[in-house]
Amino acid sequence: MADFWDNSIEFLKGVGPQKAELLRKELNLSNYGDLIQYYPFRHDDRTQIYPIAQIQGEMAAIQIRGEIQRFEVIGEGAKKRLIGYFSDGSGEIELIWFKGITWQLKNLKTYMPYLVFGKPQKFNARYSLVHPEIEEFKAQEVQSGFLHPAYSVTEKLKKKYISSKALAKYVKSLLSKLPSQVPETLPPEVNAKYQFPSRREALIHAHYPPNQQELIRARNRLKFEELLYIQLRMLRSKKKKQATFRGQVFSKTDLLKTFYEKHLPFELTGAQKRVMKEIFQDIASGRQMNRLLQGDVGSGKTIVAFLAMLIALDNGAQACLVAPTEILAEQHFKGLKEFAEPMGITIDLLTGSTLKRDRRVLHGRLENGNLKILIGTHALFEDTVQFHNLGLCIIDEQHRFGVEQRSKLWTKNEAVYPHILVMTATPIPRTLAMTLYGDLDISLIDELPAGRKPIKTAHRFDSQRLRVFGFIREEIKKGRQIYIVYPLIEESEKLDYKNLMEGYESISRAFPEVPLSILHGQMSSVDKDYEMQRFIKQETKIMVATTVIEVGVNVPNASVMVIENAEKFGLAQLHQLRGRVGRGAEQSYCILMTDYKISKEARVRLDTMVRTNNGFEIADVDLKLRGPGNLMGKQQSGILNLTIADLAKDGQILKEARACAQDILEVDPNLSKPEHEVLKNHLNRYFRKDNYWSRIS
Ligand code: ADP
Ligand code: MG
Repeated sequence: MADFWDNSIEFLKGVGPQKAELLRKELNLSNYGDLIQYYPFRHDDRTQIYPIAQIQGEMAAIQIRGEIQRFEVIGEGAKKRLIGYFSDGSGEIELIWFKGITWQLKNLKTYMPYLVFGKPQKFNARYSLVHPEIEEFKAQEVQSGFLHPAYSVTEKLKKKYISSKALAKYVKSLLSKLPSQVPETLPPEVNAKYQFPSRREALIHAHYPPNQQELIRARNRLKFEELLYIQLRMLRSKKKKQATFRGQVFSKTDLLKTFYEKHLPFELTGAQKRVMKEIFQDIASGRQMNRLLQGDVGSGKTIVAFLAMLIALDNGAQACLVAPTEILAEQHFKGLKEFAEPMGITIDLLTGSTLKRDRRVLHGRLENGNLKILIGTHALFEDTVQFHNLGLCIIDEQHRFGVEQRSKLWTKNEAVYPHILVMTATPIPRTLAMTLYGDLDISLIDELPAGRKPIKTAHRFDSQRLRVFGFIREEIKKGRQIYIVYPLIEESEKLDYKNLMEGYESISRAFPEVPLSILHGQMSSVDKDYEMQRFIKQETKIMVATTVIEVGVNVPNASVMVIENAEKFGLAQLHQLRGRVGRGAEQSYCILMTDYKISKEARVRLDTMVRTNNGFEIADVDLKLRGPGNLMGKQQSGILNLTIADLAKDGQILKEARACAQDILEVDPNLSKPEHEVLKNHLNRYFRKDNYWSRIS
């Protein structure tokens, strides 16, 4: 059977070598298995014929039957179009083609019964169908009408006449070859419990369902199956890590106690205390810790990291903290140095800008164990960086790092892999976390330090700028500091810079008496640091910057975040930026500036920001707007190569699949029982390509 799915689609009716090559390039479809899993994104109801007279408002695609009364070609250049005036006796509608006019004129006839399918659009009070599907009407086809599958295709494919309709035909041809027995991929007990259709039936109905109910049943089964396998893989990998990877036992906590009693500048929140317990249980257990620490911006993850480091040090190991940017690494270094030095703990910084001779000294101190804590950027991943005994790695704002980079840290201590704590302020919706990090233990700081006032957020239009400036002036008078942030324009660094500089100039004009700082990606890190320090020391009052300040920067006296062209930012980024204020005891504000004209989606983003400060709520909206792939950035989206399940919508199915996977592994951790053989075999087949997985931390 494996062989059946491996057949090249080239041999399907109507495909051939050239189209097969194109389908491979454009949609990554090579064999039967790929094609059958290329599920339709929609099914169109072809059981109904709509009277033209009843077309109204915003409608989905509809089917009409009638005749073309006459043709007309009007307009010039890009506006040149063919109009077919189409009537069914109840009314008339225009069929419009901008392309292939000659071809259509040659093939279409007037006064011939046609079945036409498309989405009605209203233009100048008249309805039309642009580039509709059109074919000769045959009475028997409608009577036996069905839900017609619609597949997404690229422009390139369309140009080569591989339309959604063509794909539907290829799939049909494939289904006609389907053997009468298609091996099951779910154990019988699972199939029975959920009353799923057989795999064969599900595959057929996902493309060509007899009715809506069967379509939903088929899709639910396939989604469940997909998510179940991911969960099985995750949970097995987690179990395997727990069983195989030893960790150093860190049980001594004297240093921690001293710090608690003599140096800790504030009372820990309940959530911080709970997370410390969870971490301690891990690192004292003898197993390697692989833990994700989630906590909204400002929730106080850094101190937790430091406390964990103290335990590692107390037990004779070294610790490192990796941050995604130099600014952030430097800030961590400066902040933690204040804690470390009074305790006599050695700490140092390693980034891309660390001088060569300093580096050599640093390497030496790391190797002989004199240097206890190393803070750094990805420079720390380099092979030349070797530790005497690395016991704990902390990765801050982990979504910035790729999977491979992270796994490099493991190799820094091959004798006993270091404990890993990954910290993120990107609130990941539960469904996504369960999928992406199903193999990590998850800790949550769900409480902000006491005394913080929720940030007030407002959306203002560019025309209200003077009022906004007035507000800024008031805040500066009260002794506060201000961020004004400009978007990075990806296509053009130059444009970026121009945008920022123009903003900077207009701000200097509006605030001639106020000292300003400026920060952007093209500055050297020395200059960046200089400006940052001036701002931290309150020598400057306004920080004009691009998003380089996005991650982790901590200036508690800053109380206003103004975001220019806020419509250009994603929700996650807006939330991160807003998190730069509201870190002290004062009331803080976030002002989102836009033009009057913004897209619907941008409007939803801004309204969400104004409505809530809750990172998880924001993440959920983000997931719905953008889909999971984009949410996690490029490196991780590969993991989310889902063929049919949708993490934004299928949370319930995911939950059940996870519970099901847990139940199965509970009784049969190695999937060695005969009834689980299908799972084991399919698991190996499904995921054989990317086995780097088991090492993700
Ligand atoms: P994030 O979770 O975003 O990394 P930080 O660790 O930078 O947050 O903490 C934000 C601010 O809150 C810092 O100034 C930190 O010193 C302070 N902070 C952390 N924990 C507490 C606490 N329990 N009580 C008061 N302030 C705290
Ligand atoms: Mg932080």
